Amino acid sequence: MRLFDLSGRVAVVTGGNGGIGLGMAHGLAAAGASVVIAARNAAKSEVASAALAAAGARSGCIALDVTQEGSCRAMVEETIDRFGRLDILVNNAGTSIRKPPETYSAAEWHAVIDTNLTGAFFCSQAAHPAMKRGSGGKIINIGSMFAIFGAAYAVPYAASKGAVVQLTKSLAAAWAGDNIQVNAVLPGWIDTALTQDARRQVAGLHERVLARTPAGRWGLPEDLAGIAVFLAAPASDFVTGAAIPVDGGFSASG
Ligand code: NDP
Repeated sequence: MRLFDLSGRVAVVTGGNGGIGLGMAHGLAAAGASVVIAARNAAKSEVASAALAAAGARSGCIALDVTQEGSCRAMVEETIDRFGRLDILVNNAGTSIRKPPETYSAAEWHAVIDTNLTGAFFCSQAAHPAMKRGSGGKIINIGSMFAIFGAAYAVPYAASKGAVVQLTKSLAAAWAGDNIQVNAVLPGWIDTALTQDARRQVAGLHERVLARTPAGRWGLPEDLAGIAVFLAAPASDFVTGAAIPVDGGFSASG
C-alpha cells in the first residue's frame, strides 16, 4: 500500500545495531527502505546490517558518535555518497547513568545529555540540507516514559528525554515549510541491553513494570517497528510535532 511504502527511501537509524533501533530498522527495511545502521561499535553494526541484508534489505553501516558534531556531518555525507539520498532519520542512540542526583559529576551529566539530546540535534541539523534538497523528510526522535514522569535514579536521562520532546516540537515547527515531519516516539519498558542494566541496578523494577503495564508484559524491540514505518511513510504526512507513546498502556494507567 502506497501509504506505507518506503521503496526508494533511504533511512539512517542511529544506535541501530541493537535493541529498539534494530527493531525499527527491521520495520523500515520490511517496508522497502534502504537502511543505514550508524553507531560506534563497528562489529555489532556489521552483524545488524547483515541481518537486514539476510531479510532482503539494502543496508550498510557507518561509524557514528552522536556526541561529535563532525561525526554526525560525516555520517550524513557518507550516507549520501553511498546511498544517493537521505529521507528518514531515526535519532535512537541513547544512554543512561543511574545514581542519586547529588552524586553526578559534570562529565557524567554531559555524557547523557550529549548523547540523548545534543546528538539528536546534531544529526537532525546534519540531515536537514539533504532532506530539503530531496523535497522532504521524516525525523523520528526517541523519547521515553521519562519524558512524562520523573526518574529519581536517572535525572539527566529524564531531563534529556523531556527535552527531546521539546526539540521535536521546535524542529517540527521550524521545518514544516521544508516538508520535513518531526515526531517523537515514547517507548514504554522494552527488553533491551539498556533495561537489562536497569533491572540489575534498580531493585524491584522488573516486577513494578509488569504490575503497572496494562498489556501485562515488557515490550520487545519489534513492538516499535510499526510506529517507525508509520512515522517514516506518506501515511503520516500531516502528523508533525507529536510525541506518541508505544507502551502497552503504561502512561495511560494510574
Ligand atoms: P541499547 O543500549 O540496546 O541501544 C542504544 C544504542 O545507542 C546502541 O546501539 C549504541 O550503539 C548506541 N549509542 C550509544 N551511544 C552512542 C553514541 N555516542 N553514538 C552513536 N550511537 C550510540 O538500548 P535501547 O535499544 O533500549 O535504547 C534505544 C533508545 O531507546 C535510547 O534512546 C533509549 O533511551 C530509548 N528508550 C529505551 C527504552 C527501553 O525500555 N529500552 C524505553 C524508552 C526509551 P554503540 O554502543 O555501538 O554506539
